Amino acid sequence: MDLKSGYPFWAVKNGLMYAFPKLDADVSCDVAVVGAGITGALIADELVSHGHDVVVLDQRDICWGSTSASTALLQYEIDTHGIDLARRYDQDSALLAYESCLTAISQLEELSHSVGDVDFANCESLYYASNRADHPGLEDEFAWRKRYGFPVRWLDRTALKDEYGLTAPSAILSSVAARVDPYRLGSRLLRRMQRQGTQVFDRTRVDSLTTSDQSVQISTAAGMSIRAKHVIVATGYESQSWLSQRVAKNRSSYAYISDPIDRGELRWLASTMLWESARPYLYMRTTGDGRLLVGGEDDDRDTPARRDRLVDRKAATLQRKVSRLFPHLDAQPAFAWAGTFAETSDGLPLFGCHPQYGPRVLFAMAFGGNGITYSMLGAGLLRAQIEGRPHPLTGLFGFSRLG
Ligand SMILES: Cc1cc2nc3c(=O)[nH]c(=O)nc-3n(C[C@H](O)[C@H](O)[C@H](O)COP(=O)(O)OP(=O)(O)OC[C@H]3O[C@@H](n4cnc5c(N)ncnc54)[C@H](O)[C@@H]3O)c2cc1C
Repeated sequence: MDLKSGYPFWAVKNGLMYAFPKLDADVSCDVAVVGAGITGALIADELVSHGHDVVVLDQRDICWGSTSASTALLQYEIDTHGIDLARRYDQDSALLAYESCLTAISQLEELSHSVGDVDFANCESLYYASNRADHPGLEDEFAWRKRYGFPVRWLDRTALKDEYGLTAPSAILSSVAARVDPYRLGSRLLRRMQRQGTQVFDRTRVDSLTTSDQSVQISTAAGMSIRAKHVIVATGYESQSWLSQRVAKNRSSYAYISDPIDRGELRWLASTMLWESARPYLYMRTTGDGRLLVGGEDDDRDTPARRDRLVDRKAATLQRKVSRLFPHLDAQPAFAWAGTFAETSDGLPLFGCHPQYGPRVLFAMAFGGNGITYSMLGAGLLRAQIEGRPHPLTGLFGFSRLG
């Protein structure tokens, strides 16, 4: 499957950071993690740092899948409003999702600092109503978050204009958000694990999983086999091919990044990410070297050849939208790209075992706009399941909620 088009900035900026060997002999381990993107890296790190014997495998070079195309805004604010989750499920579930995601931002911060040099920074997040029709929904969401103690401030039309120079009906300002270079974070984590003795193999494609009561046997395309007590399938948007149940539909998302811009011109954008209530939404954030990273223009099709053709046109559309919001800003695309993207109907991820494979195969499907935040939470959740411990997110993030 072709996961990306154009020139994803992290791959251009970092190049191929580390080469890992191919698997060329049979091995055994406690936990085999299939997929070495940011999800597999975070899960493997969680397991290794708690004493598990882990092997990591990827069919590509590591982090070369969707992770290299991610715009990596780290937010506790997920694509489904908290108040809508409360209506769909219940108050406790909505709070659990939002509070867990809030915790995940701190966990990602701590981990990024421990790995070092991954362009992590805390920032604020400004979420504005795209039109008057969306204003009441935003107001309800603000009231819900305020009632439950989330770090938010309300901005009406006047405050938004005075403080941010933006013309929109209203906005929610959140003081907790962050950004990172996801390709660097995943790559450096896997390299650190390898240095500490974890076996990491890339260019090793997994073809099949055979489960028994005691273990799972993984067969690779090159004819090797791995025997593991548990297998974690962290194969990103390609995970759907392992399941007969359809859990999400792949589509395409587009992004571009500018050359570095003077901090004075970026103004508050240097420390605040921006997104909106329209779906799909326009969003932007900056990087440590002052580039503006802009995303959106999602469409419902995931046909690589079509996506390849659309990259420049979509980037031009995104840039026009930026110009309309910030006429003073010269933020032309320096690199533009697109990637496969998927989300579930409720905006929540899917972590855990599926009846098709039984208890020894655990899926890590961090679908949705907050995939990286979800992967951080999934790491703790899957470790608990492997260790036979209960975890508060098991039901809400599990396949059982799909019915
Ligand atoms: C344009 C774009 C913007 C995004 N913006 C954000 C954002 O702002 N914030 C956010 O949190 N998330 C964002 N996301 C989502 C985020 O990027 C994903 O959640 C994340 O990258 C998924 O990581 P992953 O490790 O699950 O998948 P991947 O990075 O795709 O890793 C999966 C790995 O599995 C390997 N694999 C697949 N099949 C096999 C097999 N059979 N055998 C061996 N290996 C296999 C692949 O080679 C791949 O390397 C965005 C995504 C896109 C495309």
